[in-house]
Amino acid sequence: MEVLLNKIQDAGLDATSVTGEGAIIFWNHVRKHIATTPEEKALCLIFSAECRAELNQLAQSSEELRSALKLLAASHDYELILSLKNSLSERLIELGDYSAALTEYISASGLAVEHSLIDDYVLAVLGMGSLCDDYGDHTRALRYYQKIDGIDHAISSRSLRLRYKLNMLGCYLHLHRYTAANDLIKECEELSILVNDKNLAGQILLYRATLYRQQNKLELAIATLGSVANQVGQVHSLWLSVMLRIEKAYCLLQLDKYQYATLVLQATEKRLPTKITSVLEQRLYRAFSQISEQQGQFKTALAYEKKGFRIESDLMKQIPIGELGSPQLRRLSRFELQLKLILSELENRELKETTENQKHAVAQLQQDVYTDPMTKLHNRRWLDSKLKDLLLNVTPFAFLVVDIDHFKSINDELSHLVGDSAIVSVSSELARYFRFRNASCVRFGGEEFLVIIENATLEQAHGHAEMFRERINQFDWESILGERRLTVSIGVTLHREGENTQRTFYRADKALYRAKANGRNQVCTEN
Ligand code: GH3
Ligand code: MG
Ligand code: MG
Repeated sequence: MEVLLNKIQDAGLDATSVTGEGAIIFWNHVRKHIATTPEEKALCLIFSAECRAELNQLAQSSEELRSALKLLAASHDYELILSLKNSLSERLIELGDYSAALTEYISASGLAVEHSLIDDYVLAVLGMGSLCDDYGDHTRALRYYQKIDGIDHAISSRSLRLRYKLNMLGCYLHLHRYTAANDLIKECEELSILVNDKNLAGQILLYRATLYRQQNKLELAIATLGSVANQVGQVHSLWLSVMLRIEKAYCLLQLDKYQYATLVLQATEKRLPTKITSVLEQRLYRAFSQISEQQGQFKTALAYEKKGFRIESDLMKQIPIGELGSPQLRRLSRFELQLKLILSELENRELKETTENQKHAVAQLQQDVYTDPMTKLHNRRWLDSKLKDLLLNVTPFAFLVVDIDHFKSINDELSHLVGDSAIVSVSSELARYFRFRNASCVRFGGEEFLVIIENATLEQAHGHAEMFRERINQFDWESILGERRLTVSIGVTLHREGENTQRTFYRADKALYRAKANGRNQVCTEN
């Protein structure tokens, strides 16, 4: 899409400045001379089809959508293909070609399941249910909407969720199932807070009013209808504005205000555009007929009844209700199972990921608990558990106590911050030297470290201590300490089997004390 728009821009054209017939010519030109890939050409046809639909050129519009679908035959952009199929179905219904629309819905539902595109699947099933509604079979329509209800939680678009629920609600009202309607309308009201779609919000108010009227709460019904302008603003959907007026007429009728009711319907009829959907027309005639009948104007009532009946029988002839029977519903049940399986796999994967994340968080916490934040060496808590481990497994180990010489004076002369960097440098050297030597390094206190070397002799441990001491002695301290040098003293001992580790530590400390006393920058051992 963006590529196409860039190409249009590069050609010096502006897609935003065209409207109406001009836009159709524009997109035709772009398709022939600018678009190169089948996808781009398909997009041009889709845009053109939208313009034609606005100009009420429904047949050409659906032809262009079909051509676009053909162009996308080899495409893997299934979301685009499905949204195209959905537009085509809408157009076909506007054209009264219900059979072709159903064919599209059926193929879309299969394709959507195949590619786990839940929202597109829901749209297709919603379309099938609406066909049953238009036919007048609300019980059957409800069975389609209930198929959607089974995967409700997986629908990602909130407005789509609200739409199918409203369709369901419409069925409940037709079937006079008040308790179910009452529960569902509350759900819709809550959902609509998050949806922010004026038409859908208006539809909720319409159904709220219908429910009140059906329960003979006429004042509430009229008040609800009166609140539409306030709560929703101007209604732009033809269906909704006509339905609101019809509902108002029914309320007035039930209040025995026949004349007002007739006036409302007449005004509605007058304002109608020449082409409205058959279903809407039928609803209007039915309302006219009922109002005339109540006033004893049986001849007029009959005339409207006939008009309504003609539309109804046309719809009944055109809507392939036979294809919307049990086999179709069974097919959807299979799809529902398939989708639930896909969903549970998705959920499992998510759950696994969450568990992994949690595991990772726990591991991180454990690491935090056992790590010295400044030097990233192990801390004393870690040491405690490590020593327990070593004792439990009777692992022999050497014990080294490393202490920075005259560290206090570094702090005093060069600041605490410089002191910190010196500690960090000694620590990283410690970690680097002992990394592959079966050893663990611990920051024991301020500038004092412990090293545990597993399975080492006293000589080996002394050797490592000496190497490390020399490494620190040779370290280039200039960038951190300037002229000042830094050295360490180390006390070394071996853990004796069965010995309390405090004793081991005490011996290592004694060795360290000797190293300090002997002039520092040296290693002493203690047997
Ligand atoms: P010796 O050679 O005898 O070990 O002399 P020393 O100055 O190192 O003596 P001592 O161990 O008494 O002093 C350690 C000093 O380290 C005391 C304390 O202020 C400082 N110190 C402890 N922890 C930190 C730290 O995290 N950062 C800094 N900058 N200084 C610390
Ligand atoms: Mg010291
Ligand atoms: Mg010290």
